[in-house]
Amino acid sequence: MSITVNSVSKSYKSQKALNNISFSADKGQIIGFLGPNGAGKSTMMKIITGYIKPNSGEVFVDEIDVLKNPIAAQKVIGYLPEHNPLYAEMYVREYLQFQAAIYKVAKSQIEDCIEKVGLSLEVNKKIHQLSKGYQQRVGIAAAILHNPKVLILDEPTTGLDPNQIIEIRALIQELGKNKTVLFSTHIMQEVEAVCDRVIIIKKGEILVDKKLEELQDSKQQIIEVTFNISFDEVIFQKLSNLSSIKNTLDNNWQLTFSSDEDVRSKIFDLAQENNLKILGLTTQNKDLETFFREVTI
Ligand code: ADP
Ligand code: MG
Repeated sequence: MSITVNSVSKSYKSQKALNNISFSADKGQIIGFLGPNGAGKSTMMKIITGYIKPNSGEVFVDEIDVLKNPIAAQKVIGYLPEHNPLYAEMYVREYLQFQAAIYKVAKSQIEDCIEKVGLSLEVNKKIHQLSKGYQQRVGIAAAILHNPKVLILDEPTTGLDPNQIIEIRALIQELGKNKTVLFSTHIMQEVEAVCDRVIIIKKGEILVDKKLEELQDSKQQIIEVTFNISFDEVIFQKLSNLSSIKNTLDNNWQLTFSSDEDVRSKIFDLAQENNLKILGLTTQNKDLETFFREVTI
């Protein structure tokens, strides 16, 4: 296992931040760590990276006990903290050289990282002259300098504009090809765009831990349809992916489909085959964003 978290709890004085959290990540997975503000995402990440200690529980990264050997663990972890603390007055290359010296990384590796994160044209600029998206790349470059096996990115896309978000997501996906990545976000679409797996936390507890494809099965389409006459629900039986049928009023039906494929034409066909007339039809898609809102409310 790349990351193993066993029954971790953490309180800041009387404020409970994590309550008995357990999960593990396989090598090479990209995991979205999703939750509303204050859920405990940053706290969990600071514990995994060995920067703060839990009140109880264990954490292993690449089989290294983080609580017993934080320094050894940090050698295999790359960490982009929330708010990406950078030295704004430093030049990009100078900053990365400074970081590389801390990790005792070879100079040649700095240039590799600069290229990998797409900073080649910006290396001679001061960090404060860069856009927020490029500053985020500097933070990511600093996190991968020592070629870590595990990358922990705390809200890497927060505060970026839509184009920058897409660029950083692509970079995360690229890096995830040969690293285990755990990144936090409060945007469900982000998880859909880059992750293999999602862990949703709220108030310090895990609500959902699923592979993305399992989660996509929770997509639903709800159709409200009114016919000219009343009839028995057996008529609907031939529709595929129909997960529930409700006769809401005499001629009104609410049909729930466990698929987001547009089923309206099938309902029109069904009406025609049975000599029924459709007087009204509305659809509502329950996407992953809705699912996230429902579980975190
Ligand atoms: P997230 O990153 O999901 O927004 P955090 O891990 O930052 O959540 O916070 C989890 C909870 O712990 C919140 O209620 C927050 O107010 C509290 N918290 C975080 N850091 C501290 C701290 N240094 N002192 C006291 N409470 C804190
Ligand atoms: Mg946070």
